[in-house]
Amino acid sequence: MKAEIISTGTELLLGQITDTNSPYLASELPLLGIDLYWITHVGDNQKRIVEVLQRAWGRSDIIIVTGGLGPTEGDITRESIADMLGEKMKVDPELVENLRSLFRKLGIEMPQRNIKQANLIPSACAIPNTQGTAPGWWVEREGKIIIALPGPPRELQRMWEKEVKPKLSRKLSGEVIISRIIKTAGIPEAKVDEMVSPLCSSTNPTLALYAKFDGIHLRLTAKAAQKAKAEEMIAAAELRLKSILGDAIWGYDNDILESLVGDMLREKKLTLATMESCTGGLLASTITDVPGSSDYFKGGLVAYTAEMKIAFDVDAALLARKGTIDPEVAAAMAKTARLRMKADIGIGITGIAGPDAVEGKPVGTVHIAIDAGKRKSSFSATYPPRRADVKRRAVVSALFKLRQLLLKM
Ligand code: ATP
Repeated sequence: MKAEIISTGTELLLGQITDTNSPYLASELPLLGIDLYWITHVGDNQKRIVEVLQRAWGRSDIIIVTGGLGPTEGDITRESIADMLGEKMKVDPELVENLRSLFRKLGIEMPQRNIKQANLIPSACAIPNTQGTAPGWWVEREGKIIIALPGPPRELQRMWEKEVKPKLSRKLSGEVIISRIIKTAGIPEAKVDEMVSPLCSSTNPTLALYAKFDGIHLRLTAKAAQKAKAEEMIAAAELRLKSILGDAIWGYDNDILESLVGDMLREKKLTLATMESCTGGLLASTITDVPGSSDYFKGGLVAYTAEMKIAFDVDAALLARKGTIDPEVAAAMAKTARLRMKADIGIGITGIAGPDAVEGKPVGTVHIAIDAGKRKSSFSATYPPRRADVKRRAVVSALFKLRQLLLKM
C-alpha cells in the first residue's frame, strides 16, 4: 500500500507554523505496514490543492489530507476533494444536527457558516471529531482511500487514534513495520557509521543513522507478517548494536537524556548543583524541564563574568593565570557549585559560545568538569562555532558525562 500525505495551509508555506501533523502520521503509517512515499505542503488555494490531489490519486492508494476543514471561506479541503473527484457536495442533515447540538452544549448559536462543515460527497462518510467542530472525511472510490483530517494536532491525533487507525488496520492485510531508535553520544557520526557498517547492508531490518543535537541516533526498521516476528528481528539487531556501541548508548525511542540522568540521581539518592558561564543557565534550565527535578537538583549559579566567578569562590589567582576559558577553571566552578550548595555532585561549564574569540582561544571551545568529591571527570571540546549550538551541545555533553560518572557510582 502506497500512502501520501498532503498538508494544506498557507501558514505552513509562509513558515508561520511548523508541520507536525505529517511527521506524526509518518511515524504511525509503518505500524500498519503502509509505505509512505510522498509528503506535500500546499497553500489554501483550490486550484493547487486539486492539482496535488490529482497527482496523488494517480500514484497512491491512500491519501491523507490535513487541514482546511474549518468553517471559513479559506477552508477548502472538502471542496477540493469534491472538485478532483467530480462529485457534488450535499449538506448531510445528520451532520448538521450534530453541529447544532455541539453549539447548543456550548451555549452559542451556530453561525450559518458552520453548515459547510456538514457537507459530504456520495463517496465520503464523516469521521467523528469529539474535540472540535470539523468532522473528517473518509472517501473510498476505485479501490483508493482519501482521508481528510482537521489541522489542529490534538483533533487530528485523536481522530487518527480512535477512528482512522482501527478502520485502516481492519482493511489492510496486516503486514507490520516496527522501528526502534537507539540513541548514542560521545562518538562522532562517521565513527558510528564505520562501527555499525556490518549491519548497514541488511535490507530487513534496515539501519539508518541520524545526527541529532543529543548525539547520533540509529533507527532499526523491520517488516514482517506478524508484530511478534518484526519485534524478534529488531531485538536481534539491537543486541548486535549493543555489543558494538556499548556504553555510548544512552537511551531508546522517546528517552530524554535529562530525564534518564534525573532518574539515576534519584535512584542513587544523590543531589546535583551547577555553575555555568557560557551556557548562561541552559544546563540548569534543561535539568529543571523534568517534572520532579527538585528531588535531586539543588540549584544553579550563572557566573558569566570573571568578577562573578571570583565572587563565587573561584580562585582569582587561577583566573589571572589561566583566563576564564580553562579546564582548571571548570573544575573550580564544579567544586564551588558542589560546596556552596551542599550537593553531592557539582558541574562547572566554561567556554566561548561566540561569535568572537576570547583570550585567544577559538570560538566553540567548551570545558566541562564534574566534581563528586573523590570522583571527578572532565571533558573539553571545540564545537562548530554557532552560538546557540555551542550552548546546546555543551549541555548535552555535560549530561552525558554526568551519566557516565553515575554509571560508575
Ligand atoms: P479548524 O476547524 O480549527 O479551522 P482546519 O482543519 O481548518 O481546522 P486549519 O485551519 O488548516 O485546520 O489549521 C488550524 C490550525 O491547526 C492552524 O492554525 C495550526 O495551528 C494547526 N495546524 C494546521 N495544520 C498543521 C500542521 N500540519 N501541523 C501543525 N499544526 C497545524
